[in-house]
Amino acid sequence: MRILIVDDDRQNRHLIKTYLENAGFTHILEAPSAVDCFSMLKISSPILPEKEEVDLILLDLRMPEINGVEACKKIKSSPVYKDVPIIMVTASEEMDDLVDSFSAGATDYIRKPIQRVELIARVNAALRLKYEMDKRKQHERELLRIQEELRRVNQELLQLTVRDELTGVYNRRYFDEYIENEWSRVTREKMELSIIIMDIDFFKLYNDTYGHQAGDECLKKVAETMRQALKRPADRLIRYGGEEFVAVLPYTKKSGAQYLAEFILTQVAELKISHKASPILPYVTISAGVATYQPQEKSKIKSVKQLIEKADQALYRAKQQGRNCVVISD
Ligand code: GH3
Ligand code: MG
Ligand code: MG
Repeated sequence: MRILIVDDDRQNRHLIKTYLENAGFTHILEAPSAVDCFSMLKISSPILPEKEEVDLILLDLRMPEINGVEACKKIKSSPVYKDVPIIMVTASEEMDDLVDSFSAGATDYIRKPIQRVELIARVNAALRLKYEMDKRKQHERELLRIQEELRRVNQELLQLTVRDELTGVYNRRYFDEYIENEWSRVTREKMELSIIIMDIDFFKLYNDTYGHQAGDECLKKVAETMRQALKRPADRLIRYGGEEFVAVLPYTKKSGAQYLAEFILTQVAELKISHKASPILPYVTISAGVATYQPQEKSKIKSVKQLIEKADQALYRAKQQGRNCVVISD
């Protein structure tokens, strides 16, 4: 433990130092004035030290220029030193100033002339206090760290339960909950909710031609392209089935959903993923069905289930119409 003696009287400093050294203390620093003390502690430097330079300060109360009370105030006002104990060293006629010292944050006092036994007892008590405080602070930091770690792990676990493993987009479990919530929200707010169901064309043929692993890679690329096309914060992309994806689009009208579906179709086609067995084009394409719920009108769609059915029927028609196209549910 490091102890700093601040006293303008050289003999006093020497006496205290000798007592402390005889009691076994080794890290003892001396400052002949408050100003020297401040610079040793680096209190006024533009970059504060990360840790305190000393563990205990013995501070003479009566010093020229800056006295002990002022010095005590200044040290205690520093965030680095607010928990470092300060023992005031005072002659008995200075008892009034002692009151000010305690309100300035001093921990204890020693009266001059200094008694060896008293000095060591008070120093030990102050250092024990410092040690316990350090331990507690360390403990608090550790607790905070664990708390943060726990939060991170929970977040990760939560992500795992709502994400599709292959593509990283949301999974069916997430979809079921999300769409129910959004349905309630848009109903309350009398806003539209659209969904797009998208399905890769002739994907069985793709697998048959290039193998299942290539099929997985294709799914990843297509999913990523779809995900990037969704820009609004409430938009979500879900892997709905094997090679089937759903875009959930709260606050999106039929026209907006149609525009987005056509945009995604183009984006996926632009990937130009070779699909030589496809009867329609030599690269991977998708088909899409769009359905929109409009709570403000007398909507024919009355439930999430019906909304999905409508989009599914539209997708079916898109497949029948030759694929690589969008069909909007009426
Ligand atoms: P359509 O144009 O009518 O949609 O034809 P399709 O071949 O895409 O449709 P179908 O439903 O007959 O076949 C879907 C195929 O998707 C079957 C399966 O091999 C493939 N598939 C489903 N899930 C996965 C997956 O996770 N990885 C891979 N590689 N293939 C998958
Ligand atoms: Mg398909
Ligand atoms: Mg399918």
